[in-house]
Amino acid sequence: MATTTESLGQLTGPLGTMKMFIGGEWVDSLDGGHDEVTTPRDGSVVGHVPRGERTDAQRAVAAANDAEEALRELTVFERSKLCLRIADAIDARTDHLARVISLDQGKPYHSEGRWEAGAFSHFFRQAAEDIVRLNGESIPSSDRNKRVITFHRPRGTYAVVTPWNFPYNIPSEYISAALACGNPVVWVPAPSTSACAVAYAECLAEADLPPGAFNLVTGAGPVVGDEIVASAGTRGVAFTGSPQTGETIARRAAGKPLLLELGGNGPVIVLDDADLDAAVRGIVFSAFFNAGQACSATERVLVHRSIHDELAERLVAAAADVRLGDPFDPETTMGPLNNEQVAAKMDAHIEDAESHGATVLAGGGRADGMLGDLYYRPTVLSRVSSTMRVNREESFGPIIPLIAFDDAAEAIELANDNELGLISSVYTRSLRRAFFFGENVQTGIVNINETPDYWESHIPYGGASGKRSGIGRLGGANTLREMSEVRSMIIDLGSETD
Ligand code: NAD
Repeated sequence: MATTTESLGQLTGPLGTMKMFIGGEWVDSLDGGHDEVTTPRDGSVVGHVPRGERTDAQRAVAAANDAEEALRELTVFERSKLCLRIADAIDARTDHLARVISLDQGKPYHSEGRWEAGAFSHFFRQAAEDIVRLNGESIPSSDRNKRVITFHRPRGTYAVVTPWNFPYNIPSEYISAALACGNPVVWVPAPSTSACAVAYAECLAEADLPPGAFNLVTGAGPVVGDEIVASAGTRGVAFTGSPQTGETIARRAAGKPLLLELGGNGPVIVLDDADLDAAVRGIVFSAFFNAGQACSATERVLVHRSIHDELAERLVAAAADVRLGDPFDPETTMGPLNNEQVAAKMDAHIEDAESHGATVLAGGGRADGMLGDLYYRPTVLSRVSSTMRVNREESFGPIIPLIAFDDAAEAIELANDNELGLISSVYTRSLRRAFFFGENVQTGIVNINETPDYWESHIPYGGASGKRSGIGRLGGANTLREMSEVRSMIIDLGSETD
């Protein structure tokens, strides 16, 4: 199997025994415990990471608290430069970061691993630009003797907890903004991408930050993650992950500013006047990119009954073009799922759908003859109904369930009759219909004639109110506003004789 300049052995070789990063030092856990790092490629052990305990999380919070003053003393221009130094350190390590993400997460190295490894320094460059333009206000007062201004202040140490599906991009959305705002960070990554987190921390370790400004604690979420979100030493929490964990965290962090980016069950709505070429392109991309493991993935397709069969046929043909395989094979366009939990959920959703009358048009299970058990065939289901689990819950895998509707009112009802509300897409040639759905679908983002995966990093991103998809808005200056405190200063000018 050919690769680019690197040999397969170099790309898949062991990662060794790794350490956490606390207070500017590489450290083991206090009790010396380790967890194995297994690769979803073939299930083999490729390294070890420290199994952090509550005491490790506590010393990371203490180190971050110690760094608060040093970060607060930096001007925003100095913090901006700090972010640029981090971006440069990331860009200097792209090859290593790409190898680690494909080994640890399972993304196809050539089409996706190299992309994410090369993309995430952008968040630090963007934060560097935005922070120097985060202006306060001058506000009129009813008292002629008063002047009122607002400005942004650091909040203090942030607890950042992240998932495994985009193990570089998602942490960067928060860590870049936190540091730009002058907040030290304690980061707990998902255990199944801990090796990515260590590769990430190596970049920050090289960027000459005040010791303790950035800390990485590896270990189980309910242990070290819980410790940092509930700790009195953290002043804000930024979390991306499932609604269930998000709700636990919201309770444990009660009273702190929260930024929660939770699950999606993205409906893609295809109306009878849609450009079907564009719809097929958008659906297939977002259902199979990252093997469907994205909060913005196509999770269910609501299609007008008159075009259902044609769309189904075209999606089945497109699914056949997906090259499922070893993440390091240059031909591969879809790699394994990241972990058994996701694969088991896919199994359960398909079994439930079939037992209630759905038809498997393509895929429908794990692939035989692969390097490991986590390779899932791109799947298309038809005759899906609203009560099936595959419609009601986020599947988070490579699956396209088709649900037919007869009119716009039914499409809106199907779209909104769901506890999640992150992103939707609508395919139509009518401006009137685009606005009807844009104004009435209960998701934080509505993409018109575009895949639900389309997002630019400065556009507000987050869940609709009243749904379980999160609180707050990410994206460029939005994240900076969420992660900094607005201070109001009211100045009395005194009397003329003062
Ligand atoms: P998860 O909720 O299982 O885990 C997320 C993180 O929380 C992990 O680091 C985990 O170790 C940690 N954690 C678990 N229990 C904890 C606890 N009690 N206290 C503190 N931390 C705890 O989610 P996942 O399976 O890693 O990720 C998939 C989910 O993330 C999906 O629902 C997906 O839609 C969502 N997601 C959302 C976005 C978004 O921007 N809205 C982006 C990506 C993923």
